[in-house]
Amino acid sequence: MMKIAVMGASGRMGQMLIRLIDDSDQAELSAVVERAGHDWVGQDLGVVMGGAARGLIATDDVAQALDACDTIIDFTTPAVTVALAQQAAQAGVAHVIGTTGFSDDDLAAIAEAGQTGRIVRAGNMSLGVNLLVTLTQQVAAALGTDYDIEIVEAHHRHKVDAPSGTALMLGDAAAAGRGVTLADVADRGRDGITGARKSGDIGFHAIRGGDFIGEHDVIFAGEGERITLRHVASDRALFARGALRAALWLQGQGPGEYSMLDVLGLQPRNA
Ligand code: NAD
Repeated sequence: MMKIAVMGASGRMGQMLIRLIDDSDQAELSAVVERAGHDWVGQDLGVVMGGAARGLIATDDVAQALDACDTIIDFTTPAVTVALAQQAAQAGVAHVIGTTGFSDDDLAAIAEAGQTGRIVRAGNMSLGVNLLVTLTQQVAAALGTDYDIEIVEAHHRHKVDAPSGTALMLGDAAAAGRGVTLADVADRGRDGITGARKSGDIGFHAIRGGDFIGEHDVIFAGEGERITLRHVASDRALFARGALRAALWLQGQGPGEYSMLDVLGLQPRNA
């Protein structure tokens, strides 16, 4: 049985992961971590989740959690994840990263941790979205810049980063299909007198509200026709299942920073 620690245990994804790991016959929950000062810290996990005591006490001590597990699954915030990537690599613990909203410096720090540590990082852990990523790259390559690419995403009102990590993955794939770098062509959240659309740009738009779990459209708009590739997530458990699959897959891997495309076998390594 793989021993897993959950970082950000009381969060939307954290609680989903705890339930999924409890139901798994391949993994067991060995630690749950929350931020210092959080209500859950020092409390029995079973009790804070509304059930009977189970003898697993939530902690804010990351070193103690790393000692107790083979793999840590982390859906928290960029600053927490960057620090954890270094600690996990040093402790020889595999790190599954679902957190989004990283800066370029954050990504460089995680890549450095991936020199010695084993990491899967994915802005979206679902099979469907990762298929959408490969399709987006193929369609962008086939159509060229006569077709304008716009990426529209919708998430719940609590989401703090925009565009979503998934939208950026889709943008990267579209840019790769065209043989360009996303940073050179991204046009994020137009407002005001922006002038006409520049050919070759990839546009991003973010809807925030209510309880959307996550919806992404990649629109290829040409003269006389449009193609839309769409993914709709209707259950957050989807992401937790992907994260657990990534954790189990990482067991057999050497050091490196991998993506869900690697986990799902959707691209050869170093492609
Ligand atoms: P959330 O706010 O519900 O949960 C985050 C949790 O992290 C909170 O409980 C918070 O207290 C905890 N936390 C903060 N600092 C901590 C620390 N120092 N130590 C331990 N825990 C700490 O958010 P959420 O909806 O669960 O999303 C979390 C992240 O995961 C976001 O970046 C979101 O965009 C991302 N996400 C990714 C995917 C994916 O498939 N990759 C899917 C859903 C959400």
